[in-house]
Amino acid sequence: MNVAERVVRDGVVGDGAEERRERPPVGAFARPDVVPYIARWSSERCPPSMVAAGDRGIRYTDELPHDRDARGILWKRIGLSPGKGRPEFGNVHFFRQRRAMRKLLCQICGGPADRTADGTLWLVGEDADDRDAWATDLVTGHPPLCVPCAVTSVRACPHLRKQYVALRVRTFELGGVQGALYRLYGRTPVAYSADGVPFHSWRIHWVLAAQLLMSLAEFTMVDLAEEHAQYMRRKATAGPERAA
Ligand SMILES: [Zn+2]
Repeated sequence: MNVAERVVRDGVVGDGAEERRERPPVGAFARPDVVPYIARWSSERCPPSMVAAGDRGIRYTDELPHDRDARGILWKRIGLSPGKGRPEFGNVHFFRQRRAMRKLLCQICGGPADRTADGTLWLVGEDADDRDAWATDLVTGHPPLCVPCAVTSVRACPHLRKQYVALRVRTFELGGVQGALYRLYGRTPVAYSADGVPFHSWRIHWVLAAQLLMSLAEFTMVDLAEEHAQYMRRKATAGPERAA
């Protein structure tokens, strides 16, 4: 177990089921005037789709090439119309979360996440559902953040300070997906659970993916206030034309 994971378990986040239930889901870092990039909008519905058994896992009965990613993982379908309807702060848009993870975009503003010599900035809670499958890395479904959005998020929700830990992550890689797990009843695949599945697991063919998960391997816990102070100094040094 690495340092941050131990700290997360030992009290900063807490290890109780009650605290886990109270922790807002990813995408919930919200002020009324800020809609996170990865939040879903009420107009973005999941179209009806039928899942069937294929040669070595699940498939859509009317599957199209873009239903799978480059690894061949089947993804939940969802409409794409950000800004239309009401923001659903607690619900994550599958494709924007995936894009933010792949491109290391800030989960709140969709701009580049903050990266310094110390690493990329993450706020993490206790995310891994199946720790045995993930060895010792910390695994998260939360995309990284830029410094201003991280500070704003935590300031907006004081309880987040107790439930999340700020990390500078030096080494990380995409590790798997979170989604609905299926198994066969006769010849019919039926969803029976939601879980994180590593890419190397045989279950990857039996999951309908909803989020990409990142494995955080080497990282340091940091103080967000100090990160913000350093960010402001960097901005000042960069000059007024680049400080906007
Ligand atoms: Zn941001």
